[in-house]
Amino acid sequence: MKTKTLLKRFRPYLLRYKRILFTDLFAAGLTTMCELVLPLILRKLTNLGAEDLTLVTPELLIRFGTIYLALRIVDILASYYMTRVGHIMGAKIETDMRRDAFEHLHRLDIEFYNTAKVGKIMSRLTNDLNDVTEFAHHCPEEYFIGAIKLLVVFIVLLRMNVMISVALIVCVPLMFLASSHYRKRMRKVLVNQRKQVAVINSDIEESLLGVRVVRSFANEDIELEKFSQSNDEFLHAKKDFYTSMAAFSTVTRVFDGVMYLIVIMLGGYQMMQGKILPGDLVVYALYATTLLATVRRIVEFTEQFQRGMTGIERFVEIMDMDMKVYDREDAKELQVREGQIEFQNVSFRYPDGEKDVLHDVSFTIEPGMNAALVGASGGGKTTLVNLILRFYEVTSGEILIDGSDVKDVTLKSLRESIGMVQQDVYLFSGTVRENIAYGRVGASEEDVIEAAKLAGAYEFIMELEHGFDTYVGERGVKLSGGQKQRISIARAFLKNPKILILDEATSALDNESERIVQGSLEKLSRGRTTLTIAHRLTTIHNADKILVLDDSGIKEEGTHRELMARGGLYHELYTTGSLNSETK
Ligand code: ADP
Ligand code: MG
Repeated sequence: MKTKTLLKRFRPYLLRYKRILFTDLFAAGLTTMCELVLPLILRKLTNLGAEDLTLVTPELLIRFGTIYLALRIVDILASYYMTRVGHIMGAKIETDMRRDAFEHLHRLDIEFYNTAKVGKIMSRLTNDLNDVTEFAHHCPEEYFIGAIKLLVVFIVLLRMNVMISVALIVCVPLMFLASSHYRKRMRKVLVNQRKQVAVINSDIEESLLGVRVVRSFANEDIELEKFSQSNDEFLHAKKDFYTSMAAFSTVTRVFDGVMYLIVIMLGGYQMMQGKILPGDLVVYALYATTLLATVRRIVEFTEQFQRGMTGIERFVEIMDMDMKVYDREDAKELQVREGQIEFQNVSFRYPDGEKDVLHDVSFTIEPGMNAALVGASGGGKTTLVNLILRFYEVTSGEILIDGSDVKDVTLKSLRESIGMVQQDVYLFSGTVRENIAYGRVGASEEDVIEAAKLAGAYEFIMELEHGFDTYVGERGVKLSGGQKQRISIARAFLKNPKILILDEATSALDNESERIVQGSLEKLSRGRTTLTIAHRLTTIHNADKILVLDDSGIKEEGTHRELMARGGLYHELYTTGSLNSETK
């Protein structure tokens, strides 16, 4: 992306703090004074001393001393302000951007998360944005300071002696040109290096998350080998970076030498000729140092600038990912009164898929009905229920809830009206209570306990060391699959939706807890429209309607008895035991 585009995207974040920014720049201006005035004071002293030592009087020293002291104090205060407030401003900008990116990530399609590497996204939100903090205040400051210094130095020098000044000044653009060549190269390899860091992050994450699999196959060596590859590539990227950094620093050293040589030879010559005074030579030497330091700093900060740009680019990439699933402008709130679900000729293909996962699926689930969806493993059952929640948009056809097309209602109201219990339960780091209360924001203590009881989770929760206050999730107490499942069912009880979807909700349970949970689920489904993807024959037996899904849509529908009597696909799946092959 072009620097201009990136800066344009960054500007609103910076301008939110424009008052601080301007004060910061003002402080930056103040800090240049000390450095610029010191050579002038020394020049005066040297010239007076060279003329006649008695001219250097105590009064004069006190006057210069006072001026310098005052400037120093201003300088100290200003640079304190810059370091503190300037950095904080940068951090605020980073925080704002991270917040926006996080919010955006939560709006992105589920599809994005099928392929996205969480480790990579994490490093975008932390490392890359951290570079933006540094960039946000240092770069305006440093460029501003650099500009003031160059300008003042040029003016002062030119007034003293044109020949030496021109010789020195000519060096500055040359130095810029030479080093800008290398800084461009640095940017390129830096991008590479960042990418490599992200790869390493996600490799580590993946390997560690799969540590149980690795152990069980005793594949530690293979993991190490895989990891070594990306680790070595990282080394290459770093090597490239340091090579161009070395080239860059060599160039600046060459110019150091050239500029001081000019001061010594040309300055000395001009002094020999009586064209400048000894004090002027002092000024040239000191200002040459200032020039060199300034150019070096500006070019150095260009590296930071590049890093900041890379950070912003990563940010913009996230923010520019667009969504296929979003609220229509005239989207209404979904009001589920009855809870009827209707599929009309729904076909669906995953964006990267070759063929339709669902083809021309039509069925109706009447309000309050208990429907079971069966079909071969990989036949698209999970996909079908994900479509109801609009995790993906149907390729063609319509899904209606109480007659409203799910595309015409707000995502929030749609997802709030439907309760889904999935096979994989995710618990957040937090207490058991918090995890259950996730089902309904602001639920009371009694409600949570009631929900836990209904879900058959109360007993085991009370047996945990801290009861409802037990810490679970990634960093907490480990619960069994069945226990986690019951917590997620308690969430659904708390949510109390009109429509309930159970996707293999009990398949992770052992027989004992399944019996408990099955009873709870039946309670939960009472008075609601329920769509169950089930593998247990008992659940299927009791369903008001069984939908049999295959490649050509809903092949058969009816009760267990009816379908068995028909002797079709259901009969075949049932008798060959394929209905419950997914789990056991
Ligand atoms: P079921 O739940 O009936 O076992 P799924 O709905 O999970 O089946 O999957 C149906 C088909 O869609 C499978 O062939 C699967 O490989 C494919 N599939 C599932 N999820 C995705 C996805 N995110 N992207 C592409 N294809 C997918
Ligand atoms: Mg499934």
